[in-house]
Amino acid sequence: MSERLVVIGGDAAGMTAASRARRRRDPDDLDIVAFERGPYTSYSACGIPYLVGDLVSDVDELVARSPEEHRRNGIDVRTGHEVLAIDLNRRQVRVRELGAGAESDEPFDQLVVATGAVPSRPDLPGIDADGIFGVQTLADGVTVRRAVDERAPRRAVVVGGGYIGLEMAEALVRRGLEVALVDRTAQPMAAVLDDDMGALVGDALRAVGVTLYMGESVDGFDTEAGVVRAVRTAHRTLPADLVVLGLGVRPNSGLAERAGIAVGEAGGVVTDARMETSVGGIWAAGDCVESIDRVTGRPIVVALGTHANKQGRVVGINVTGGDARFPGVVGTAASKICAYEVARTGLTERQASEARVDVVAATIESTTRAGYYPGAAPITVKVVAERPGGRIVGAQIVGAEGAAKRIDVLATAIWNHMQVGEVASLDLSYAPPFSPVWDPVLVAARNTANLL
Ligand SMILES: Cc1cc2nc3c(=O)[nH]c(=O)nc-3n(C[C@H](O)[C@H](O)[C@H](O)COP(=O)(O)OP(=O)(O)OC[C@H]3O[C@@H](n4cnc5c(N)ncnc54)[C@H](O)[C@@H]3O)c2cc1C
Repeated sequence: MSERLVVIGGDAAGMTAASRARRRRDPDDLDIVAFERGPYTSYSACGIPYLVGDLVSDVDELVARSPEEHRRNGIDVRTGHEVLAIDLNRRQVRVRELGAGAESDEPFDQLVVATGAVPSRPDLPGIDADGIFGVQTLADGVTVRRAVDERAPRRAVVVGGGYIGLEMAEALVRRGLEVALVDRTAQPMAAVLDDDMGALVGDALRAVGVTLYMGESVDGFDTEAGVVRAVRTAHRTLPADLVVLGLGVRPNSGLAERAGIAVGEAGGVVTDARMETSVGGIWAAGDCVESIDRVTGRPIVVALGTHANKQGRVVGINVTGGDARFPGVVGTAASKICAYEVARTGLTERQASEARVDVVAATIESTTRAGYYPGAAPITVKVVAERPGGRIVGAQIVGAEGAAKRIDVLATAIWNHMQVGEVASLDLSYAPPFSPVWDPVLVAARNTANLL
C-alpha cells in the first residue's frame, strides 16, 4: 500500500514541499494530498502591490502553478478546503469543504504544516467596516485591486509603515489616489531599518505625494452604513474611501499548537534543521515556523518567501527519505519604495542594542555608478560591526537603481562571520557603469573598521 503525505497550505512552502516530494517518489508509491483554504496555489503574494498598482494586469501572471497544473503533476490539490484540526493519535486531519460545508477525516502517514502567517488586525472600533482591506493572500490582493478598479476611491489611508504598507502606498499613488500613511513609529520600516535610514525612505514616499503621519497610532475608523469613511488618530481624522492594513504578521501556528506540536518563544512552530517538528513525521515550513538567527543564535520569525521556498524544498527531500538541512537566516530582505531600492541584512543598531551586542556603525553616502557616468545616483550604506572584534553583524542600504542587490555581498560576509576590515578589502568588481572605483560597500566597511 502506498504511503500518504498530507500538506496543509497550498502556497510557497506547502507546494514546494509537495512538488519536490512528487519529483522524488512516484504516485503509486506516495499519495500526496494538499489542502488549501483559498482558490489559488503557488502564487506570488510578493506580487500583490504590483497587481494593485497595475504593473501586472492579470492575476494569473502571479500564479506559478495552478491547482490543475499540480493535479496533472500527480498532486491531489483540494482548494476551498480548510483543515480544522490535526489528530496526532489517529494520524488524521479534520477538513471542511468551504462551499458545501461538509466535513471529513483525512488520514496521513506524514504531514506538512505550511499554514503561513496571520496578518495583525487589532480590535479597534470600526475595523470590520467595508473598505478596510488586509493583504496577505493572493485572494486579498484581487479584492483590493477590484475595489480600486470598481469603486473609484479618491482617498486611501495605509495603516502601518512596514515594507508591505509602503509598497501598497506606492501602488495606490500609481492608481491616482491621494494617499496618507499612519504609523506609530518615528520613521518608516522601523522594525528592519534604523531611523536614519528609514528617514530616507520617508523622503522617497513624500516625493511621490504620500502624506506621512509618523508617531501616531490609529484609534479607530469612522463608518457610515457599514462603510469606512475615515481613520482616526489622537491628533486627526483622515478621510478615507479605502484603507489598507499593513500592521505586520505573526506565524499561523495555532492549528499545530492545538494539536500538541511545540510552538516556540517567537510564536512559530519549532522545527529542527531538517524542518521536522517536535512530533516525528510532522514537518513544518514557511511563515508559520521559527528559524535560527545565525547572528544572535536565537529563534526568530522572518516571514519571507525566500525562506518558505527553501524550507519547503528541505521538507520535500526529507519526507521522501533524503537528508537536507535549512541552515538558518541572517534576515536579508530587499524592497523597492518609490525612487529607492531598500535592503537590509543582519542586525540594525537598535536590534543589536536589544540583543545586548555592543556595536559600532558607520553610514556613508556615495553613488551607484562612477560620478561622471550617466545615471549615477545616490546610495547610502550603513554597516554595523561588533565591538571590539569587528565581526560584521548588520547592514542597510537605501539608494537608486543598482543599490539593493549590493546587500548580498554584506549578507554573505555576515553568514561567514567576516570582520569589517576583511570586507573592506574584498575583491569586488568595478567599472564606471556599475560603481565608483571604491564601491560604496567597501567604503562603508572601511569607515566602520576605522571606528573600532
Ligand atoms: C504584499 C506582500 C508582499 C511580499 N513581498 C515579499 C518579497 O518581496 N520578498 C519575500 O521574500 N517575501 C515577500 N512576502 C512574503 C511572502 O509572500 C511569504 O513569506 C510567503 O508567501 C510565505 O509562504 P508560506 O507558504 O509559508 O505561506 P503563505 O504564502 O501565507 O501560504 C499559506 C497558505 O496556507 C493556507 N492556509 C492557512 N491555514 C490553512 C488551513 N487551516 N487549511 C487550509 N489552508 C490553510 C492559506 O490560505 C495560504 O494560502 C510578501 C508578502 C506579502 C503579503
